[in-house]
Amino acid sequence: MRIMKVFVLTLCLIGHTTFFTSAAALPKHEDLGRATLAPNDGWASFSTGTTGGSSATPDHVYVVHDRQELIAALNNGVYPPPSSTPSSTPKIIYVVGTIDANVDDNNEPLTCADYERNGYTLEAYLATYDPAVWGRVPPSGALENARVASQQAQQARVRIRVGANTTIVGVDKHAVIRGAWFDIRGTATSNIIIRNITFRDTYDCFPAWDPLDGSQGNWNSAYDSISLRDGHHVWIDHNTFEDRDTADTTLPTYFGRLFQVHDGLVDITNAFDLATVSYNRFVNHDKVMLIGSSDSATADRGKLRVTLHHNLFEDCGQRAPRVRFGQVHVFNNYYQIKNTPNYGYSWGVGRESAIYAENNFFRTDHETTPDQFIERFSGTAIYAAGSLVDAASPNHLVDVLAEYNAVNNPDLLPNVGWTPVLFLEIEPTFKVPSTIMSGSGPFNW
Ligand code: CA
Ligand code: CA
Repeated sequence: MRIMKVFVLTLCLIGHTTFFTSAAALPKHEDLGRATLAPNDGWASFSTGTTGGSSATPDHVYVVHDRQELIAALNNGVYPPPSSTPSSTPKIIYVVGTIDANVDDNNEPLTCADYERNGYTLEAYLATYDPAVWGRVPPSGALENARVASQQAQQARVRIRVGANTTIVGVDKHAVIRGAWFDIRGTATSNIIIRNITFRDTYDCFPAWDPLDGSQGNWNSAYDSISLRDGHHVWIDHNTFEDRDTADTTLPTYFGRLFQVHDGLVDITNAFDLATVSYNRFVNHDKVMLIGSSDSATADRGKLRVTLHHNLFEDCGQRAPRVRFGQVHVFNNYYQIKNTPNYGYSWGVGRESAIYAENNFFRTDHETTPDQFIERFSGTAIYAAGSLVDAASPNHLVDVLAEYNAVNNPDLLPNVGWTPVLFLEIEPTFKVPSTIMSGSGPFNW
């Protein structure tokens, strides 16, 4: 274990060498480990606010370099964790360099083949469940069971449980967490801050074929980069979420459908409440952010309150966000739809959703039209004001809702039944691209 506890508040990190520094060599930037969400900065500031692990005692401040150190830091310094429930003791975790989740306990890389169990191979799976052979019914039997067992073997490595009262921050712009699923769940799981990290290539080696998903069937995968379920008060800020080595453009097609190895980037479901998602970059991904997972999840009513501001959504296919039930404030975001061959929509209006969108900027390929920014599922209303599309002139506001209603029936209504009050400042829309291109994602230290 190279895990190190930091007994002073300030530290200086060069490469993988950790040492303590005198006041004369203090980093010039803010110590993100002790930072808290500003009052009024979105839904995560409601009531108690979000302070993460900022009150950690010195023996609960950690610097981590690999999967094992990260998991230990989340469990009072113990690996393997003594319990499936991670520690709720206030803790600050500084991430250094690249942490790959698909590794063994010696930090040696694990490939998809390393997880195969009980005779599963992709070749056998494709041969067995080809609709031309198997028919248009869900896979079942020994080989499907072997796929599930293989998936569980990978999950045991990539799933990382994060407990309450935790701050996880990159020490610099080179902090990367690759292939991981941050599983944040449980009604007692609250008060978490995640900042200044690049989440890259969260992928499932064992997608499931569902011949009944859509008109042609689909390959569906497990693992979001971050999932929030049942808990409350989470701030996700200044991160990048992206697919690189596993980008959709690199993936094959089987049974006529993309072999999709990704699920969401940040999915918020199961009556989770009160998140602020700010200044992140969501890049080159299909399903970005699902807020509410089912029309029948009526326990979500009154929950799923989320603020999204100053995020970049670059070449994202859909769900930016897709909402059910929640009151979601979407302001000052920058949507780049320039090179997005599989673009579906940005704002998904699901059952009882109440998206309040204002002052967002869209940059398009000039073929995508503003009516396409909205997709109606079983919702009835969305407020959308102050949008600019391509032209940065404040005199060319586009009424995205009117554009949608002009080409779709039934119309969506503009009254969503609430008006946001928790925000710091709403910028004029024409300023949004420059603010976001210079100020989103990990800090440029
Ligand atoms: Ca998901
Ligand atoms: Ca209409």
